[in-house]
Amino acid sequence: MIPEIDVRSCIARKSYAGELEFSFEAEDGLLDIPFVSFSSPVTARLRYEIFEDDAVEVKGSISFSLKGACSRCLAETEEAFTHEAEALFLPAEPLGEEYGYSGGVVRLKEFLRDTVAFALPARLLCDNCKEE
Ligand SMILES: [Zn+2]
Repeated sequence: MIPEIDVRSCIARKSYAGELEFSFEAEDGLLDIPFVSFSSPVTARLRYEIFEDDAVEVKGSISFSLKGACSRCLAETEEAFTHEAEALFLPAEPLGEEYGYSGGVVRLKEFLRDTVAFALPARLLCDNCKEE
């Protein structure tokens, strides 16, 4: 499950930063390598901070594993990936690189989908093919 950041209740409790650790199933549609699929849920380790203007910064990393046929020799292979994740959520319409949030609640789904899409390699190589 992907948690939400309830900014209003954090501010009410004067709690302006926190950590989130959770796992979720990645959308298979994001992955575009033949004969390769996710072999683990995506794990996210994130830290958030709420600023005075109610902007919320989220920073951390995501990890996941891919398994399937090597893109070069078709041998069965598996590899773990970790990627940095960082975003700024604004309590208004998003501008460019930023995300928006409304109702005092930050929803991370779109950001995580984008982060996974960005972290995915163009191909999966087995150890033998990587060395060549
Ligand atoms: Zn190979």
